[in-house]
Amino acid sequence: MKALVYKGPGEKSWEDVPDPVIQQPTDIIVKIDATTICGTDLHILKGDVPAVTPGRILGHEGVGTITEIGAAVTTLKVGDQVILSCISACGKCSYCKKGVFSHCLGDEGASGIGWIFGHLIDGTQAEYVRVPYAETSVYVLPKEVTPELGCVLSDILPTGHEIGVQYGAIKAGDVVAVVGAGPVGLAAIATAGLYGPSRVISIDLDANRTEAAKKFGATDAVVSSDADWKQQVFALTDGLGVDVAIEAVGIPATWQMCLDIVRPAGHVANVGVHGKPVELALQDLWISNITMTMGLVNTNTLGTLLKMVAQNKIPAAEFISHRFALGDILEAYDVFGRAAETKALKVILT
Ligand code: NAD
Ligand code: ZN
Repeated sequence: MKALVYKGPGEKSWEDVPDPVIQQPTDIIVKIDATTICGTDLHILKGDVPAVTPGRILGHEGVGTITEIGAAVTTLKVGDQVILSCISACGKCSYCKKGVFSHCLGDEGASGIGWIFGHLIDGTQAEYVRVPYAETSVYVLPKEVTPELGCVLSDILPTGHEIGVQYGAIKAGDVVAVVGAGPVGLAAIATAGLYGPSRVISIDLDANRTEAAKKFGATDAVVSSDADWKQQVFALTDGLGVDVAIEAVGIPATWQMCLDIVRPAGHVANVGVHGKPVELALQDLWISNITMTMGLVNTNTLGTLLKMVAQNKIPAAEFISHRFALGDILEAYDVFGRAAETKALKVILT
C-alpha cells in the first residue's frame, strides 16, 4: 500500500510500504476513506516529538471501512464504516477504567503516547491502518455524518471539549476566552457553546481567524497584536476578566495571556502542546485562587460529540477548508503548512 512515512526532521515521503496485518486478536484493519492533517503532524515533522522515529507512518485522524477483524472482535464486522479515535485504548486497564484512555497501559507494554496513531504505532495517512483494541477505540459512523465530518471527531473536537471546556469547568453564564483560533481553539469554542456561557471571546493574532470563530459560536473577537488587547478583554467582562481562559496555541506568550485575563477563582485550561518551559509565578498567583489544568486528550467524549454532530448541534462542516485525493498528500501538506496564507483549517484527504 501507499503511506506517508516520516523520514526524520523535515523529511517525509509518500511511498510503498507493506500492508498492515492483524497482530493481536483485538485488532482490526481499516481501509482509510478519509483522513486529515493535524498541527501535531507539523510538530513531528519539525523533529519536536523525538519519540516519533523515522519510518513511522504519520496521521492520527480518520474514518475508514473495516476489511479484517481479529478473532476476539465480536461487536464490529467487516464492512462497517468507523471513526477512529486518535488514541486506541484497551478499555480494561486501571487508567481506561477512569476514562484516562490517553495513558492506557494496554497489554503490549506501551503507555502514554503508546496508542496514538502516527506516534509509536503507524498512523492513518495511508491506504490501510491497523487499529489496536478496536472494540473500545472506534465508533460506527451514523448515516447522518459524512466521513469528512467524522475526521473532525478523531481528535480536534474531543481535544477542545475535554481538555479545554471540561477541564476548564465551563458553567452556564460563564465568560470564556479561547486564546488561539486554530482548529483546536475553534473546537473549544464550538463545544463551549454546549454549556451555556454568556460570552465566548476568541483571541488570535490573525483577525481572519477571530472573525471566522464567530461561525463556531464566538460572541466577540480580540486581536492579540492590538496594543490594548487586554483592555478590550476587561472591557467585555465588566473589568473582571474571564471565568475560564483556554490556551490553544502552545507557547509561553499565550499561556501568560491566559493568566493575565483570568479573574480570581477562575480556571485556566491549557490545551496547547508546549515545546518550551513556561513561567509560573506562584508567588503572585496563589492569592487569586486560580485552578490550572492540562493534559492529553482521552477521546472519552467522542461518542457524545458524535451525537451532537449528527444532530447539527456543532457546526462541524465549518472546519473543512480544503479537499484532496489521498495520493496528493504532499500538496495537501504544503497548503496546510501555509495556513496563514491559504486559510487552511482542516484539509481532508479521501
Ligand atoms: P494551529 O497552529 O493550527 O493554531 C494555533 C493558532 O494560534 C493560530 O490561529 C495562530 O494564529 C494562533 N496564535 C499563534 N500565536 C499567537 C499569539 N501570540 N496570540 C494569539 N494567537 C496566536 O494549532 P491547532 O491545531 O489549533 O492546535 C492548537 C494546540 O493544541 C497545538 O499546540 C496542538 O499541538 C495542541 N493539541 C493538544 C492536544 C492535547 O491532547 N492536549 C491535542 C491536539 C492538539
Ligand atoms: Zn487501557
